[in-house]
Amino acid sequence: MEITVGSHVWVEDQELAWVDGVVTSVNGNEAEVETINGNQVTTKLSKLYPKDMEAPDTGVDDMTKLSYLHEPAVLHNLATRYGIKEIYTYCGNILIAINPFQAISHLYDTELMDSYKGAQLGDRSPHVFAITDVAYRAMNNEGKSNSILVSGESGAGKTETTKMVMRYLAYLGGHAAAEARTVERKVLESNPVLEAFGNAKTVRNNNSSRFGKFVEIQFDACGQISGAAIRTYLLEKSRVCQISEPERNYHCFYLLCAAPPKEIEKYKLGDPKSFHYLNQSSCYELVGVDDSHDYLATKKAMDIVGISVEEQDAIFRIVAAILHLGNIAFALEGEDSSVLEDDKAKFHLQVTAELLMCDLEALETALCKRNMVTPEEVIKRSLDPLGAAISRDGLAKTIYARLFDWLVKKINVSIGQDPDSKCLIGVLDIYGFESFKTSSFEQFCINFTNEKLQQHFNQKPGGIISLLDETCMFPKSTHETFAQKLYQTFKDHKRFVKPKLARTEFTIVHYAGEVQYQCDQFLDKNKDYIVPEHQELLSTSKCSFIASLFPSLNAETPKSGKFSSIGSRFKLQLQQLMDILNSTEPHYIRCIKPNSDLRPEIFENVSVLQQLRSGGVLEAIRVKCEGYPTNRIFSEFLERFSILVPEVLKENVEENVACKSIMEKVGLSNYQIGKTKIFLRAGQMAELDGRKAKLL
Ligand code: ADP
Ligand code: MG
Repeated sequence: MEITVGSHVWVEDQELAWVDGVVTSVNGNEAEVETINGNQVTTKLSKLYPKDMEAPDTGVDDMTKLSYLHEPAVLHNLATRYGIKEIYTYCGNILIAINPFQAISHLYDTELMDSYKGAQLGDRSPHVFAITDVAYRAMNNEGKSNSILVSGESGAGKTETTKMVMRYLAYLGGHAAAEARTVERKVLESNPVLEAFGNAKTVRNNNSSRFGKFVEIQFDACGQISGAAIRTYLLEKSRVCQISEPERNYHCFYLLCAAPPKEIEKYKLGDPKSFHYLNQSSCYELVGVDDSHDYLATKKAMDIVGISVEEQDAIFRIVAAILHLGNIAFALEGEDSSVLEDDKAKFHLQVTAELLMCDLEALETALCKRNMVTPEEVIKRSLDPLGAAISRDGLAKTIYARLFDWLVKKINVSIGQDPDSKCLIGVLDIYGFESFKTSSFEQFCINFTNEKLQQHFNQKPGGIISLLDETCMFPKSTHETFAQKLYQTFKDHKRFVKPKLARTEFTIVHYAGEVQYQCDQFLDKNKDYIVPEHQELLSTSKCSFIASLFPSLNAETPKSGKFSSIGSRFKLQLQQLMDILNSTEPHYIRCIKPNSDLRPEIFENVSVLQQLRSGGVLEAIRVKCEGYPTNRIFSEFLERFSILVPEVLKENVEENVACKSIMEKVGLSNYQIGKTKIFLRAGQMAELDGRKAKLL
């Protein structure tokens, strides 16, 4: 479209990403624009985008209805809708969901569910229910599995969205008879249980899931829920013993500290401030959360998913034991040995042993000493205080991870799988792309997942994990040697960059941007290793629950020296996930976090744009633009543009013919006429508007 003096345009802006203004002069290929925030900007004509002056005040509910489909228009449309509490918008068949950070009344009512049931996408305003309904109907009609992939950065609203998807599926595929309703109840109640043990407050989200989750809901031939399976990915173990301001450890620790007095006494608990694993951050309470209430609620949910009272006792005993374990502090003895620091440490050692039902001395030895196996004998070598603390933290992390895995397994057994189910709906809630000041192994795995999910992975250097495994198996390796290997192997790869002067960093050009990774902890974090002494200690616990978490080593377990690779296991899990997803019809929900203060009504353009980019939304729009991004029903089109060829209305011709005459008159070709609509190329609408503006 020709931009002239007086044209309304979008121009780039440092702070707002895009700002609208009016062209005040044009000089060759440059224009001067006066923006609405009062700036005079000189810029290239090619960097200006026309603004649709006829865009409705309430925005459009599907981006593909935008007259001008470009980045500023997309952003403006989302901001406009967010301003009137319309948090959902389609972009073709992708649902964009912008976190409202406040409850919107009636947004998830049963009456609303009723109204979405069986409705065509687009008949009703955009909603998770609408997408879910489409998936469910497609499954029933075509007998094919469907999946709903929910993505977005931490705090964007993925987990809440996933829960709404599950609620709506339970509503659609639920059973009429009360006694048959247990399956869907268990499916829904698995959420609070997993959240108590797998969620924590982070900088980005007060209830951040520290694991990825894929829920597979199985349906019988009548479209009723007949089973479910939950798979989890990469629980963040380090949080159990290491947290920083203003974050918290996993919710379950605080819940238990707020349990009724009887439990507090039984588990010898007290103020969370007195536990090392909790007091590394001064945040103990969450606004709007009552831990003592949530403790009881979690237990109730545990009842529903089929965790027995005895099992619950063992579970919380383990949670308490981990807190006590963290308080076992060590002091230096002699040159390089360690002893318990003081009476307080001794007390906590004793309580830990009681709760874990293991031998006190064996526990102390397992923490402070290591067996050295020589051909002649086994020698006990002492660890220094730092080594003992690392040993203790390793034990805490392992116990917690095994407990979490147990919970997932138990829930799956309890809900039950339907072996006869032909169709399922999979719901994926997994961390979005991450890039931090220091990005490590976890970010690498997460970004690797996102690449896979976006199916962009083919262009990425494969084999980083194999190289990591190789390095881990070689005893003398360090993170430096790992980095050197990476540099050598991928030096010619166009998506791999060795930063200048870097010795242990590497950069990968991801589809969503460059991320620089720090190698220093890759080796440790890749090793899934349990100290044999810890294994021995817990496998002989008198508590059968705990002993069962640590089944005795047998011939199949890798021998010492060998290790089991977290990276490889994750890669395999991811491949299995991809196999399932590839056999389903996917539906996408992209969650957007409108601001980093987690506050309602604030919409930060720059950050939203970044998320639209990394979530592939802008890419989808670009692809759309290559086709016919804009379409209009004939009558709408005529209403807007018949002024260009006033005679067409008088001639009493068919609507499609009238539309054609308008396009001819303006000299536009390469459009398509459908049955009821005209399909336009990107920019054609703007061209038509431009002509119209000149007439007026
Ligand atoms: P993610 O899983 O993407 O990290 P969550 O789903 O946990 O994010 O959402 C973070 C917080 O945002 C929630 O705890 C809730 O307070 C708020 N939130 C998210 N989605 C909604 C919604 N649809 N309505 C109201 N609040 C929401
Ligand atoms: Mg989450």
